[in-house]
Amino acid sequence: MDLTFSESEAAFRDELRAWFENNDPGRSPEGEDAAYAWRRDWQRRLADDRYAAVHWSPEYGGRGASITESAIFFEELGRARRPLPANVLGILLAGPTIMTFGTPEQKERYLPPILTAEEIWCQGFSEPDAGSDLAALKTRAVKDGDEWVVTGQKVWTSGAQYSKWCMLVARTDVDGAGGKHKGLTYFLMDMEQPGVQVRPLVQITGEPEFNELFIEGARIPDENVLGGVGNGWRVALTTLMNERSGLAFFLQVRLRQLLDELVEEAAARELLDDPVVADKIGLLHMKAEILRLTAYRGLTTIEKYGTPGPEGSLTKWMWSETNQELAQFAADLLGPDALTNGNRWAYELLRSRGNTIEGGTTEILKNIVAERVLGLPRLKGAAA
Ligand SMILES: Cc1cc2nc3c(=O)[nH]c(=O)nc-3n(C[C@H](O)[C@H](O)[C@H](O)COP(=O)(O)OP(=O)(O)OC[C@H]3O[C@@H](n4cnc5c(N)ncnc54)[C@H](O)[C@@H]3O)c2cc1C
Repeated sequence: MDLTFSESEAAFRDELRAWFENNDPGRSPEGEDAAYAWRRDWQRRLADDRYAAVHWSPEYGGRGASITESAIFFEELGRARRPLPANVLGILLAGPTIMTFGTPEQKERYLPPILTAEEIWCQGFSEPDAGSDLAALKTRAVKDGDEWVVTGQKVWTSGAQYSKWCMLVARTDVDGAGGKHKGLTYFLMDMEQPGVQVRPLVQITGEPEFNELFIEGARIPDENVLGGVGNGWRVALTTLMNERSGLAFFLQVRLRQLLDELVEEAAARELLDDPVVADKIGLLHMKAEILRLTAYRGLTTIEKYGTPGPEGSLTKWMWSETNQELAQFAADLLGPDALTNGNRWAYELLRSRGNTIEGGTTEILKNIVAERVLGLPRLKGAAA
């Protein structure tokens, strides 16, 4: 693992630092809708200078950035304390999946408005009885002429309330011949139709970040199948691989910032000499550093072998548990101050609860590490 940047990577980092310095969207406004509109504007600014999706090829409005450069982008975005673009699922998940499996017409139609945040995307994978075991999903799509008619329910659909399009995985072959992974199809579903009802779910933070999706006779034209009928599992895995590898760098930088802010809070309260506080801060510092180095190791694997290794699972597991530990420690340290309504530490504490569930639960990630890193035997009857 070589941690030094090449000359061109260092130049790219400096260019980004200068750009973020000159481009500050200011503070997020109050209110869910206003905050979302603010992030949409921010994405337009990024897209104008081809920074919205640096890893996309120039032909689609990106910069053809290497994996290291893409990581540098997220690191600098986090360092400059700039927000993630609004259409993060479109940029990190839908776009790369369409680039891999889309027809030329699909690429031309869907990619440009992802980049400019004109059309927001959500991910319709999880269902009430299919989360970790995604292949158990029951939402059905039945062929009707040159259209598909979809019926079912999705849940936890982040950002569905703002979305024009949904990456929808549905069952198109109910015989189950060849196992539950066969007979799934990946669709690009228009959310703006009467057959799709979005009902927000309010989280412990008070935000309706995700939604239930009730799909009752929604219609999807044939040309919106991505990657071929019956090939949905393969297409969905591409989306999931992009999910885990894309955000790792941003998250580890965010963790470091939170820790620095917590140290400032502790210093302001003259608590740094308290041996228990110092001990805990030392431990969190060590974990943040391990996370950073493991994220780099993951990067090296992708550059060497072309695909993400098990490090993606390790970093997601380590990040989520350390982030929860940090937020809990902040609450212990600041006492009632941390829980005052509107205090950002209260938000961090409450939001962090979902970290060990979203993007793969810790138990599932531990299974992956046990089987693929440690070579332990596979759990009998376990979901793939
Ligand atoms: C903030 C947030 C945003 C999300 N956004 C989206 C989104 O936009 N789109 C989307 O499709 N989904 C989204 N999800 C859903 C998320 O991907 C699922 O919650 C996750 O995959 C777990 O599925 P589940 O909730 O059905 O739990 P289950 O799979 O039912 O798991 C329940 C419990 O059993 C454990 N478990 C299950 N199987 C095993 C096993 N084989 N071995 C050991 N333990 C096991 C799990 O770890 C968990 O503790 C989001 C979730 C959160 C928290």
